[in-house]
Amino acid sequence: MPAAKILSPGSTIGILGGGQLGRMTALAAARLGYHCVVYAPDLESVAGQVCNGHVQGAYDDLDALARFAAQVDVITYEFENVPEAAIIACEKVKPVRPGVKPIHFAQHRIREKDFLRKAGIGTADYQPIRSDADIDGATALPGILKTCTDGYDGKGQARVATRDGIKAAWEKFGRRECILEALVDFQCEVSAIVARSLDGTTRCFPIGRNEHRDGILRTTHVPSGLPENVLKKAEAFGIKLAESLDLAGLVALEMFVTKDGRVLANEMAPRPHNSGHWTMDACATSQFEQLVRAICGLPLGSVEVLAPSRMENLIGDEANDWKKYVADPTARLHLYGKSKARAGRKMGHVTFIET
Ligand code: AMP
Repeated sequence: MPAAKILSPGSTIGILGGGQLGRMTALAAARLGYHCVVYAPDLESVAGQVCNGHVQGAYDDLDALARFAAQVDVITYEFENVPEAAIIACEKVKPVRPGVKPIHFAQHRIREKDFLRKAGIGTADYQPIRSDADIDGATALPGILKTCTDGYDGKGQARVATRDGIKAAWEKFGRRECILEALVDFQCEVSAIVARSLDGTTRCFPIGRNEHRDGILRTTHVPSGLPENVLKKAEAFGIKLAESLDLAGLVALEMFVTKDGRVLANEMAPRPHNSGHWTMDACATSQFEQLVRAICGLPLGSVEVLAPSRMENLIGDEANDWKKYVADPTARLHLYGKSKARAGRKMGHVTFIET
């Protein structure tokens, strides 16, 4: 295989999606001398605020996507619900990293779990729920019923204890294709964020320990305080995933650590991840810079932890406390430039350096 071309600083990165992950990727890219152009459905986006260009277009407008692709040297995406057809249209013009395969699996919870299992990555028991007969045969109880597509941050999910409970939740979800996952009695949640470069080198950021509330990530702690054998398992699963997906870019794997020390994968995201935001302030290389390095063919950066840290999300009105954080010498504040603070909306985050 011929060596992939290195894209030098000065090249242009296209980003599909205009949210905060795109924004922070663009900021990291700018630091290394790259330009970025965003493609997003809205006229303005928080990523577009810090990019060289912003192309407004729908994800099913294949002509607009091709025009966008022609303006850039390489393309990445900042969320996994970009339609596969959009990625394929871009791929005809320029390389898309990490490509269509991770999107295919990350967009659908049954495909995702099947893929993880096949790759040798442990998960909780699960079963498809597509019909009344599936409900009658359901055994993964108590469990969580999740819609297979379009669910995020706890949306499209219901805890169920009985088959009647599954039935009620399934009706509420409009009898859409769902997955029933056995409820994991976990001691904590962790995530591995793995970069894989064009030459196949992988590097995993130190494992973060995550706390969620109402299905939304609130806090990430690094170091996690977990025993070495658990960290090794979580890291090995993350690396296995990056290799099985054969990707160039980043992938995050969220996992449960059970009370008896087993590690079970929950879900993947082939992009920078909220639980990796601590790397911006407390790691030698941020996850966003690592993504830029990976997709541009540069060597991956060091993942050395510079200081213990705790990342807190600022959700909804919590961002109004910005004055408190800018006055705190241990806090590193990041605001995403969103004008409206809706309930549950991620407005920013703060990383506290814990010495
Ligand atoms: P998800 O959208 O799949 O990432 O789920 C959001 C959050 O719900 C997770 O981070 C967990 O806190 C919780 N959760 C999801 N699936 C399970 C499960 N099978 N067992 C226990 N908790 C779960």
